[in-house]
Amino acid sequence: MDEMKQIFECQRCGYCCQGKTTVSLDENDRRRMVEALGLSEDEVREKYWRVTGNVTQMKTVDNHCVFYDNGCTVHGGRPWRCAQWPLHPSLLTDENNFITIKQSCPGMNQHISYEEFCRILRPIMEAQGIIHC
Ligand code: SF4
Ligand code: SF4
Repeated sequence: MDEMKQIFECQRCGYCCQGKTTVSLDENDRRRMVEALGLSEDEVREKYWRVTGNVTQMKTVDNHCVFYDNGCTVHGGRPWRCAQWPLHPSLLTDENNFITIKQSCPGMNQHISYEEFCRILRPIMEAQGIIHC
């Protein structure tokens, strides 16, 4: 079995796309999303973004991200924070984060020990340049 699937496999439950706010988008996120949607930046801002000062988030509809519809409808252009979730580097440094995220994300292996989880995740994050040895 691929190593990643031993620790996480998204169940597409949509929990991480719920709420009255979303992750914020950095410059690369905005560019990628505009390209993925094939619209002008002004159109994307008007239809999909909530801009507050210098913070850009996605709009929400009925308490979920505007792009959520039984899954992410802007998958290839989603913000990096969405792509990374739930495998955040802080999982490797604090078992409490592991416990908390595991409770909110059913895609996390619910039966694996913290030590085994870290043993698998650490080289994956190193290979992706997310953490450094
Ligand atoms: S909470 Fe976890 S399992 Fe559910 S959609 Fe988000 S990443 Fe996937
Ligand atoms: S962009 Fe996609 S993955 Fe991110 S919150 Fe919206 S629907 Fe969920």
